[in-house]
Amino acid sequence: ANSILSSFGTTIFETMSRLAQAHGAVNLGQGFPEGLEPAEVVAKAAEALTSGPNQYPSMMGTPELRAAIGAHDKRFYGLDLDPMAEVMVTSGATEALASCLFGLIEPGDEVVLIEPLYDSYLPIILRAGGIPKLVRVAPPHWDLPRDQLAAAFSDKTKLIVLNSPTNPAGKVWDADELAFLAGLLEKHDSYAVCDEVYEHLVYDDRRHVPLMSLPGMRERCLKIGSAGKIFSLTGWKVGWVIAAPALLQPVAKAHQYLTFTTPPNLQAAVAFGLGLPDAYYQGLVTLLQARRDLLAAGLERVGFQVLNTGGSYFISADFRPLEFSGSDEEFCRLITEKAGVAAIPVSAFYQTKDVDHFARFCFAKTDSAILEAISRLERYF
Ligand code: PMP
Ligand code: GLN
Repeated sequence: ANSILSSFGTTIFETMSRLAQAHGAVNLGQGFPEGLEPAEVVAKAAEALTSGPNQYPSMMGTPELRAAIGAHDKRFYGLDLDPMAEVMVTSGATEALASCLFGLIEPGDEVVLIEPLYDSYLPIILRAGGIPKLVRVAPPHWDLPRDQLAAAFSDKTKLIVLNSPTNPAGKVWDADELAFLAGLLEKHDSYAVCDEVYEHLVYDDRRHVPLMSLPGMRERCLKIGSAGKIFSLTGWKVGWVIAAPALLQPVAKAHQYLTFTTPPNLQAAVAFGLGLPDAYYQGLVTLLQARRDLLAAGLERVGFQVLNTGGSYFISADFRPLEFSGSDEEFCRLITEKAGVAAIPVSAFYQTKDVDHFARFCFAKTDSAILEAISRLERYF
């Protein structure tokens, strides 16, 4: 059948993880961490599973978790939120994105997207009847083409989806780029769905700046977070949306018919986790930055040309110096099957496949997994 969703096939993350499993490969493909789960947060969930509650919580999330999210955003960004009116808990950032897009987009609305883009955005936007306006950023520097971004906005623009730090590029938009975008939102009276799942994974002493914290942006932004990334527990699927009450309302309408609610015991554990001291958050960055550097140095030894990563779990590496002349999909399949190391082709994040010589590697793994992957690649090439 010829439907919008059937044109998309199986997501690349599932495809590559299955292939990795079939070939016993070290999986540096799909972005999930290993060896970083905070034991005290997991213990809280276990306790809450036995003691309860285990019935439907409020569709907006438990008051306890909403308050913790408000306190978190006050602590890290100075945002003053009314958690009972401006925070909604969702089943992962994926559901937060779907609720925002289904809640806000009317058929015929234009939606600005920056490529490379995370794979769940486009199918949902199309299914909601939105008209995507794609702006490309390109390796190696992933600079924002301001003229093209400005040209993508029009009177019909409902919103932009802005991911920072970005998956897969690991780009952290700077204050200047955010201010430029804020100007466009005001000029065209439009909104930003801000996918900030990697908000705490920013390296080299930089800090994440939410677009919502810029002047005039409080009423224009929907800010999305994910406990999966903050606590290295991606299977939990606890996420949230923060937005002014009038913006959150239509999003809550979509959410109530998508998942309605999220397990209360996991919400209790995440509420506890968000209150951990600054040392927890700094410790996570220190560990991940060391792993980024370990993987980057190893890939360079193998012969890749490695791009800089300012945030996220990911490194993009150019494989042309290895004298492989096929596509990035072929390259990732080859190293998974023959070298025993899985990666994700960066072209999966573009509609037009002309950026086709980069592989994305996830460094949120144990040191021994990273070292094993490097030694397998060194043996193969
Ligand atoms: N947005 C981006 C940019 C991601 O990389 C991911 C994947 N982890 C998500 C959203 C989805 O997050 P969650 O697992 O909380 O649904
Ligand atoms: N966000 C993760 C990645 O980019 C994967 C999430 C998923 O598998 N859907 O690898």
